Amino acid sequence: MIETSNIKVTKAATSKLPQIDFDNLPFGKTFSDHMLTADYADGEWKNFEILPFGDIGLSPAISALHYGQSFFEGLKAYRHADGQISVFRPDQNAARFNKSAERMCMPTLPEDLFIEGILALVNVDKDWVPSKENYTLYIRPFMFATDPFLGVAPSTTYKFMVLLGPTGPYFSKNLRVKIETEYTRAAEGGFGYAKAAGNYGGSLLPAKKAAQQGFDQLIWTDAKSHEYIEEMGAANAMFVIDGKLVTPSTRDTILDGITRKSIIELAKGFGMEVEERRISVKELLEAIANGTCTDAFGAGTAATIAQVAEIEHEGKTYTLPNPAESVFANKMRKALDDIKFGRVEDVKGWNYMV
Ligand SMILES: *Cc1c(COP(=O)(O)O)cnc(C)c1O
Repeated sequence: MIETSNIKVTKAATSKLPQIDFDNLPFGKTFSDHMLTADYADGEWKNFEILPFGDIGLSPAISALHYGQSFFEGLKAYRHADGQISVFRPDQNAARFNKSAERMCMPTLPEDLFIEGILALVNVDKDWVPSKENYTLYIRPFMFATDPFLGVAPSTTYKFMVLLGPTGPYFSKNLRVKIETEYTRAAEGGFGYAKAAGNYGGSLLPAKKAAQQGFDQLIWTDAKSHEYIEEMGAANAMFVIDGKLVTPSTRDTILDGITRKSIIELAKGFGMEVEERRISVKELLEAIANGTCTDAFGAGTAATIAQVAEIEHEGKTYTLPNPAESVFANKMRKALDDIKFGRVEDVKGWNYMV
């Protein structure tokens, strides 16, 4: 059971749940009845509170708006067949939350408060965790700077908040992706490894241009040479080449994904060889052309595994084997879902029960 005694809870007078159309749940537009907020001031976190979801009043001078001291996390809660609810690996999100905080010169949050706050909020809104097959409750923790001060300096006050929203299954149509060789998501010495708001702001224009050219997604390459694969949109890039799982090694330009990490661990458990290393565009395209690359996918919390059908590079299209027939991607998707939805014993302790 979770210790919620030091979090003040104010319940919403009525629930919006009866109005929710679970057959039509666009990602990120539907929010549950409650949210969590906490304040950082005078060097400490205080005022942990669960209250009805709604607008918050803020000064237009807050530094988050002007200088981008803002970052987020993303994880999910799952309802098991017996009705129990679990959150997948929130300890990993707590650790990454603090890595982002440090890079953005923002205060860290004790990991137990992050986890306890999330479990307490999900517990208050537990009826919002869908029981429909493959539906989940998305959890969005975030922190932003709140000093009403236009000087370029770290804020002295911050807000930590958590929002929840039910979300439907991600029908990942097989992706047509483009290897991006003009724009860059993250540069060495920068903050690509942080889930900082600015990283996503900067990715919108390249993504829009790619969409106008008919692509679903981008494969980001390194800032210096554009010769090495980094990530796939806002997901980690993973490949099966010569029967081995190959994925770019994490570095300061790459987000250390929890889905990526979990897939690596499961693949090793299945006896598969895993290589975390740099992968050149040339190596990848040659492997697709000669048939040794059998799988290409993006790994992340939203889609779990988003498979690639086609990759374009400098006007040439490279076609992967039919994603629907991929043994590896289907096995991994099932292995992850089986753990998350409690269909198999959670031997790794990845599920935090609400
Ligand atoms: C969130 C994110 C991922 C995936 O991380 P998960 O922990 O697996 O959800 C990968 N790349 C980027 C850029 C991201 O923002």
